[in-house]
Amino acid sequence: MSKKIKLAKHSGFCYGVKRAVETVKKLKAQNPNKNVFILGELIHNSHVIKELESLGIKTISELPQKGDGICVIRSHGASPEIFEQITNAGFEVVDLTCPDVKKVQKKAIQLVQEGYFLIIVGKAEHPEVIAIKASAERFGSNIFVASDVSQLKTIEQKIKDHKKVGVVVQTTQRITTLNPIVEYLTSISKELMVANTICNSTTLRQNEAKELAEESDLMIVVGSRKSANTTHLAEILKGISNTIHIEDDKELKTYEDIILDANNISITAGASTPETIIENVINKLKGG
Ligand code: SF4
Repeated sequence: MSKKIKLAKHSGFCYGVKRAVETVKKLKAQNPNKNVFILGELIHNSHVIKELESLGIKTISELPQKGDGICVIRSHGASPEIFEQITNAGFEVVDLTCPDVKKVQKKAIQLVQEGYFLIIVGKAEHPEVIAIKASAERFGSNIFVASDVSQLKTIEQKIKDHKKVGVVVQTTQRITTLNPIVEYLTSISKELMVANTICNSTTLRQNEAKELAEESDLMIVVGSRKSANTTHLAEILKGISNTIHIEDDKELKTYEDIILDANNISITAGASTPETIIENVINKLKGG
């Protein structure tokens, strides 16, 4: 019996990532003699970073003290301090923060300005969360980042002492991470305002992948292990179906036996996975 292989409709680049990659390439093409660089990886995918480098677009982890050229802010966003440092160092800033991430930053600022104790649901070390927190910190200091209920329990009294508690969420989080946090906060706070800022692209991708997992005997998640939304996808699916997470087609070899046993395989991919990588995986599965 030949294998059934299905690709999720919502897989690969989301609109925020597509916009960032296309804009940065256009920027370099329009400014061939200018230094164009990105502060931090534009997206968590080494293939894309290498492609950009081949076009003369460098990825740097630290900002030089002085220089000229164009410094690009990636879709995760950056803190207001970083924006200032870039301008002060003499660079032009091109801000490619995803509009959905901007919305979270604005909501976080609004909640702090309105006197809410702000809880950011997400990973404290993730660049998007760092930028959301730093943006809100300009307007107040009652801000806490948590990725589960146990972290919130360490500041339970502080939460109880505040009349109003506001919540925003890292755009690529799982709804199953948010739900128990909201339940806990409801039980201990007097007034709770929850802005579910998980982005539409993430929600559609996760929901579709869950449906596919119900009807497949193997799910393959394609994308970088450094990518939050890709690893979240794999975590969600592991609870529903047999799931493997690979970065590219070369890794399929490791799972040869599992793949051989599966007749109904579905593929999904994170928001930072380029189409060519997904195509290569499909071709190899089809024996190409
Ligand atoms: S995952 Fe969502 S928030 Fe992040 S870049 Fe894509 S659309 Fe924007």
